Amino acid sequence: MELYSPIMAFILGAVIGSFINVVILRLPEGESVVYPASHCPHCREPLRWWHNIPIISWLLLRGRCFYCSSPISIQYPIVELLTGLLFASISLKGGLSLQSLVVALVFTLLLALSLIDLRFKAVPDSLNLLALTLSLFSRPNIVEALRDALIMAGAFALLRFYVSYYVSKREELWVRRRIEEAPWLRDYYPKHIMVEAMGEGDIMVAGTIGAVVGIQLAIVAIFLAALLALPASLYNRFAKRELELPFIPFLSLGFYLSYLFGDQLLESIGLV
Ligand SMILES: [Zn+2]
Repeated sequence: MELYSPIMAFILGAVIGSFINVVILRLPEGESVVYPASHCPHCREPLRWWHNIPIISWLLLRGRCFYCSSPISIQYPIVELLTGLLFASISLKGGLSLQSLVVALVFTLLLALSLIDLRFKAVPDSLNLLALTLSLFSRPNIVEALRDALIMAGAFALLRFYVSYYVSKREELWVRRRIEEAPWLRDYYPKHIMVEAMGEGDIMVAGTIGAVVGIQLAIVAIFLAALLALPASLYNRFAKRELELPFIPFLSLGFYLSYLFGDQLLESIGLV
């Protein structure tokens, strides 16, 4: 039984992962996720049932279409594997219950949001709101989950005001110094600078995290996310000269670590 249930959870996860692959590819393009049925994007040939077995089909076909042998993205088996592992690890932590299933689905949606965020630097509200709504049912007490979701979303919205204010003021100071050095630049810069730090999507994710793990562990999750994002943001800034860093992948990873190990972490530093 002990070994049997994580394996069942893995299989269920991998099957859901193969649907999530379709969502990741079709939703940002505004296509329907149910129609048309799975087909090769190159030769449009519809797939047979045995081309659709999570992970295994990709390996059997050696990553190529059965009909036209054009390459099939390695994203497919990787997402299926990750979703399988998500379901298995969550079933080990929370047992086989309806709540564990809801938590696993919430994490699966966050995996999809993370991959979309990495690629497009924006996420569809539809998926984000679905994750938030589902997360309210991840605990036996819906009212408590809703309360913690509201507190975390509110806290995150306020944090966003603080960070945006700080970033905007720093930018303004920099512009002012440039203009002092070269007054003719005055016409090229706006008078007031407003930089929005963090995306609106992050606020919804913060609410989702609060609903699932509660306020204390949600703060741990966000702290871990910031810690994980720091080296990436430095690399982005100095090596790639990019300021914008997709934050949802880091929030999701911090959330996952805090869901699995947060209790032990708080215990080891003597907070509970
Ligand atoms: Zn093909």
